[in-house]
Amino acid sequence: MTVESVVEVSDLKVYFPGRRSSGQAKSLVRAVDGVSFAIAKGEILALVGESGCGKSTIAAAIMRLVAPTAGRIASGGVDLATVNGSALRRARRRFQMIFQDPFGSLDPRQTVYETVVEPLVIHGVPAEERRTRVLEALEFAQLLPPERLAQRYPHELSGGQRQRVAIAAAVVLRPDLVVADEPVSMLDVSARAGILSLMVDLRDRLGISYLFITHDLSVAWVLADRIAVVYLGRIVEIGSAAELVAAPRHPYTQALLEVTRGDGHRTLPGETPSAAAIPTGCRFHPRCPKYRLLNEPSQCREVDPVLTETATTLVGHQSACHFVEENQ
Ligand code: SF4
Repeated sequence: MTVESVVEVSDLKVYFPGRRSSGQAKSLVRAVDGVSFAIAKGEILALVGESGCGKSTIAAAIMRLVAPTAGRIASGGVDLATVNGSALRRARRRFQMIFQDPFGSLDPRQTVYETVVEPLVIHGVPAEERRTRVLEALEFAQLLPPERLAQRYPHELSGGQRQRVAIAAAVVLRPDLVVADEPVSMLDVSARAGILSLMVDLRDRLGISYLFITHDLSVAWVLADRIAVVYLGRIVEIGSAAELVAAPRHPYTQALLEVTRGDGHRTLPGETPSAAAIPTGCRFHPRCPKYRLLNEPSQCREVDPVLTETATTLVGHQSACHFVEENQ
């Protein structure tokens, strides 16, 4: 692990038992199927992909909301994939999460103060420090004036303000990493811009790193330093946000970008296959336009491609495609 990394994920797998169909053996849902990446201090890494691709399960595994089946989540000298008890509690203090729904994630019976003070109470911060820390977090989240906002209830706030309360509760412990799962997808356009700019501001002021989960490549491009594109439980392309969007190399990333830049009517070809029945070889081959263009080479059906750099991309820009050198 490099000195600056706040977390290094290696070959992470999360499998769930699937449903048994009549007369057949029980299937295995490979929701996350061998994912590796590191996040540097102060870095924003976006995980991008369609709904059901496994990106939220990766986030949940890092937060230990689901148990990893295999792999390492190395941070601060411990493997979060396997720790329990007080070591897990200490790690939870350094990793915080923001959820998609700013309406459902706050308790309607609690004031803003009660919501934001809760992590301090859980982690044993002395009572005399708590009020100052809560007001400071509200100020960080630009909920101004903090003293007045602290007394409000969720129903008295806009969607953007509620998400700012969730952010204040996430940063009040000064975490190293915030995992944000689709935090702006339920907000209107102006609130969305405000939350994205707040996240960058907090990165700059507090040195927080983010794992940002989104289905929207354009949002990832605006916010992130690097983007990892996830397809059916695997990263199929990873690189700097600027280069990956300007020169995507994987056919799936290229298709996602076409949809993002389209007129709103364009969709990706085909359905995402089930994680209980992952295609052989390259898992994208049943939907891949390049595969059809190349006359369906057997290599795509038979050999699982690994992430590889190309001669013409920046260091660290990798794609998992047998024909990556041609995908320009
Ligand atoms: Fe498409 Fe084949 Fe590349 Fe997979 S390996 S993305 S099927 S061209």
